[in-house]
Amino acid sequence: MAERKVRVRFAPSPTGALHIGGVRTALFNYLFARQNGGEMIFRIEDTDSNRFVPGAEEYILESFKWLGIEFDEGVTFGGEHGPYRQSERREIYKEYVNQLLDNDKAYIAFDTPEELDAKRSEIENFQYDAKTRMQMRNSLTLSKEEVDQLIEDGQQYVVRFKIEPGQEIHVEDMIRGDVRVKSEILDDKVLYKSADELPTYHLANIVDDHLMEISHVIRGEEWLPSAPLHVLLYRAFGWEDTMPRFAHLPLLLKPEGKGKLSKRDGDRLGFPVFPLEWHDPKTEEVSSGFRESGYFPEAVVNFLAMLGWNPGTEQELFTLDELVQAFDITKCSKSGAKFDYQKGIWFNHEYILKKSDEEIAKLFAPIVANNGVDATMEEITTVVHLMKDRVNFVKELWPLCSFFFIAPTEYDEKTAKKRWKEYSGEQMAELSKVLADIEDFSIEGQEPVVMKWVEDKGYKLGDIMNAFRLALVGIGKGPGMFDITAFLGKEETLKRLHAAIEVLG
Ligand code: GLU
Repeated sequence: MAERKVRVRFAPSPTGALHIGGVRTALFNYLFARQNGGEMIFRIEDTDSNRFVPGAEEYILESFKWLGIEFDEGVTFGGEHGPYRQSERREIYKEYVNQLLDNDKAYIAFDTPEELDAKRSEIENFQYDAKTRMQMRNSLTLSKEEVDQLIEDGQQYVVRFKIEPGQEIHVEDMIRGDVRVKSEILDDKVLYKSADELPTYHLANIVDDHLMEISHVIRGEEWLPSAPLHVLLYRAFGWEDTMPRFAHLPLLLKPEGKGKLSKRDGDRLGFPVFPLEWHDPKTEEVSSGFRESGYFPEAVVNFLAMLGWNPGTEQELFTLDELVQAFDITKCSKSGAKFDYQKGIWFNHEYILKKSDEEIAKLFAPIVANNGVDATMEEITTVVHLMKDRVNFVKELWPLCSFFFIAPTEYDEKTAKKRWKEYSGEQMAELSKVLADIEDFSIEGQEPVVMKWVEDKGYKLGDIMNAFRLALVGIGKGPGMFDITAFLGKEETLKRLHAAIEVLG
């Protein structure tokens, strides 16, 4: 068989916010497409009108825009295989449903929900299949005239796939290898419903993958049970030669490792499971998003890429382009991947370090301004330089750094008790005189002078620095003292020293 052009698709149903597992699926499709010079298609699977949620499609598109995952074709992107919204493809599906009916691969069934329930209570583990279908009300048991009459009378019906028993079905999966099942375990799945004149997921999915020339289907593990049915549908249509190859990605598991990751885990442990904040239009519930929580899109991408895949080396930090180079779908794990959100936080921290001080300063500047401080970009960049290795998120900078911009109005009681000795006031008054005489107030200008003074006087360096810090910062922690004083400048440093002596005595 000739090598096909790689074409993959991400095909969400617009039923709400995109779960982070869906984002990972899209990312792996994207990496696979890019590394093979292929194309990535965005299809909306909205044939289940009951589950349609307004705003979901826009939300999904915005999520990928934020993450930098780009599509080549599909809803809002255009292309020659459209329309890409399944609700706009009704006529196409009808044609293919009729093809199956004409070739005796499918049949029409009139059983009402009540009749199906009755059968279920009559037969244990009832399954609509080769064993039971001849006891039901369908085009196999009714005459052609009866069927036509029922349809003419406006009776609702479904079209069911006629699955013949005794067939071996192979699903060749790039991650799981050869999965084999017997056709008799499958039921005659509903492919089409007259009530809304729409196909079900299975039929629409196969027809579209075929017509859109999809070469590889990469999706979540939850779709693995559907794969044998899909293989049979390709056979029934006579499309075996262009059947896509499958890859079912490992589930995302709870951080503890047992069970599927859910939104409730996020609520319980305080981490987002959606890329962007989501406002549920029905319940008005608001769910947090990675973006609004302060994550960098690069960090989220890097974190997700490592869920169910690893490069086989120690390297953990990858740009999207590096991932395209390194990714190997066949090396994805079969078993579920723990959603270690702490690792996600670690990635964000690494990206703070990786980004330039200027870039972080640009993000921090509005926060500084919102706190009523008028600082120059240069000052903000200096503070970022001194402090960024201490935070995981930009928003954590302000509480740690506010003292650079705003003088302390109170002094941490515990620290003061421990570090402000009875002689500290006198020592600080002396220090302020030493500092006042320094011309060059840079770090290099101050440090040797202060050190010499401490030595000459025979003071304990720890005593001096602890009291000095408390006076300038208000608490017992912070960056190097001369980093702080050089930033504050002579005037502000002396002002804060005097204020502390006044208050602490
Ligand atoms: N519409 C399905 C979903 O919401 C697509 C599954 C598939 O990729 O076949 O995930």
